[in-house]
Amino acid sequence: MSNISIILPHNCCGCEACLNICPTNAIKMDADLEGFLYPSVDNCKCIDCGICLEACKDSIPFNNELQNIYSYYSVNEDVRSRSSSGGAFSMIAEIILNKGGVVYGAGFNSDYTELIHVKVTTFDELDNIRRSKFIQSRKSDIYTDVQQKLDSGVIVLFTGTPCEVGGLKTYLQKDYDSLYTCDLICGCVSSPKVYKKYIDEMKQNFKSEVVFVNFKDKRNGWRNKAISINFSNGEEYYNSILDDYYVVSFHSRFNIRPSCFNCKYRSLLRISDFTLGDFWGIENIDKTQDDNKGVSFVLVNTRKGTDLLAKNEDLHFLKLDLEEYSIKYNSRIDKNPELEDWSMRKAFYKDLENSSFSVVAEKYLREIKEKRKLRKMQK
Ligand SMILES: Cc1cc2nc3c(=O)[nH]c(=O)nc-3n(C[C@H](O)[C@H](O)[C@H](O)COP(=O)(O)OP(=O)(O)OC[C@H]3O[C@@H](n4cnc5c(N)ncnc54)[C@H](O)[C@@H]3O)c2cc1C
Repeated sequence: MSNISIILPHNCCGCEACLNICPTNAIKMDADLEGFLYPSVDNCKCIDCGICLEACKDSIPFNNELQNIYSYYSVNEDVRSRSSSGGAFSMIAEIILNKGGVVYGAGFNSDYTELIHVKVTTFDELDNIRRSKFIQSRKSDIYTDVQQKLDSGVIVLFTGTPCEVGGLKTYLQKDYDSLYTCDLICGCVSSPKVYKKYIDEMKQNFKSEVVFVNFKDKRNGWRNKAISINFSNGEEYYNSILDDYYVVSFHSRFNIRPSCFNCKYRSLLRISDFTLGDFWGIENIDKTQDDNKGVSFVLVNTRKGTDLLAKNEDLHFLKLDLEEYSIKYNSRIDKNPELEDWSMRKAFYKDLENSSFSVVAEKYLREIKEKRKLRKMQK
């Protein structure tokens, strides 16, 4: 058998490149008990060509040309407050839109129950793909769509987690001058099923539809982030990320994809033209830039990327060593997370089958939540 079914689940990051590349549409994505999507092959349609395995190979097309670190925050206060960090994503996306290009990124569906990769062609549409969402997004046939745009001569910015950019690159199997890619310092991604249970329960509690979700609400400061959910009846849920059980399920590592513990893209070498993150530690590097409203860490990895941003006066070049920065301030650049108790995690998902999110969270996450709060207070 020469198809994607030989890949073990803990090695599958769910990028969906295999689904996009299959010439006979033999692959679909099915959710496992935890709610993460894995490829499933229809053996009647599979012609054993092995092309799906090619798109899943272990050799990563890392960019290694140059790496320069910049800090950035948008001077547009509205864009900055609506972004998770300093708004570097919006700055890069606007350059592409101004050139008549299209931008791809992770945005919510209309009722905020699902995260999907979408295409954006106007400034107004951009807001849906702003801000970090702690959910793995559904790619469906988005790489095929990107390829069609590139082949018709359109400039494209594709953004997402490093494995999603990796999925696009192994799907395309060639370089395009008109393709710009941007990944994130990615802490890991969470289960769409757990998020759906959480958000459905919120809707029930507030007896209303959801009209906005922000996992990184900065109204009380970038370092005091909160989750906020707005409802069509005008009500709002607002809670510290230390107290909200969905965010705790993410930070506790119960609710992250198994392959994230062994991510092959987590590295000082990067796959994209740009890598964005929170500029943790900026207060020790250049205090003048820190007003607790959010600063983006911008790593430019290629000459092409450098050329695109050349005229931007709001980017501040910082002479830092990436490895040293990662060790001191932002270990998720190249260090995988760890989970101590896998049996508890298994029990968490089993219980979720028959109970509400809040009941299961209270049972498995209360102690973890209290410990994290204490650690934060001691800091
Ligand atoms: C799940 C997750 C974990 C992260 N963990 C860290 C971390 O540990 N350390 C760190 O420094 N930074 C982390 N980041 C990155 C950080 O939160 C900001 O996304 C980044 O700094 C860009 O912020 P911005 O202000 O420039 O733009 P924003 O407007 O905040 O960023 C929007 C960009 O994020 C993408 N995006 C949002 N959610 C997802 C998703 N679920 N899947 C794929 N793409 C998504 C959009 O497509 C768009 O490109 C994480 C982001 C995500 C999504």
